[in-house]
Amino acid sequence: CGIVAIVGNTPVAPLIVDALKRLEYRGYDSAGVATIHGGRLDRRRAEGKLVNLERRIADQPLTGTIGIGHTRWATHGVPNETNAHPHFSNDDVAIVHNGIIENFAELRAELLADGYTFASQTDTEVVAHLISRELARGSAAVDAAFAALKRLEGAFALAIIFRGDEDLIVGARNGPPLAIGHGDGEMFLGSDAIALAPFTNAVTYLEDGDWAVVRRGGLEIFDMNGHRVERAQQQSIGTK
Ligand code: GLU
Repeated sequence: CGIVAIVGNTPVAPLIVDALKRLEYRGYDSAGVATIHGGRLDRRRAEGKLVNLERRIADQPLTGTIGIGHTRWATHGVPNETNAHPHFSNDDVAIVHNGIIENFAELRAELLADGYTFASQTDTEVVAHLISRELARGSAAVDAAFAALKRLEGAFALAIIFRGDEDLIVGARNGPPLAIGHGDGEMFLGSDAIALAPFTNAVTYLEDGDWAVVRRGGLEIFDMNGHRVERAQQQSIGTK
């Protein structure tokens, strides 16, 4: 339902949770954050309000300067911790998703036949496995994400991080909005500019069918044919 992602220079988990609070108005049933630290993906998730996630993180802090966060409004699978995002595949890929993958049943059957097992009941988990399968076939992270995105039907905003690259967030939009915030040596993704307002007042909105390669040093946006596209940077309501 709500997405926040940051590739930054200080621990991002508390910043992500604070930004998710700014998306609370959308409603949600669970929440989670994943980061990469020490070359590993790690996550905390909790059913219910963000305060539950904050408690979880206070008990077991989550370090790392790159991360993704989510508030979930369940469409596929009951609202519980196991179905809360971020979803992982093979500890290689972490993903948060807003929307519905319409062809998830077909993709799930294909992945099951290929030996993938599913930890959750969500439609989202197929996306993590599709990317992981491309990585296992030898694709670089960005190529793996693009190959997976091409298979998806439905409405989605996505943010994806990769264990093997601590300077990369891939974002994608087909329906639900996704804004990319420009910082000074750091970059932000969010479901709307309100979530990003404490971080930056320079925002680029993805258009439907766009996907983005976001690194500390900047942003590249592509269409569904893999061609570079230019989207205007806009002044937002940000205070920084
Ligand atoms: N369809 C996904 C799920 O049920 C994402 C729902 C959302 O937009 O929060 O987990």
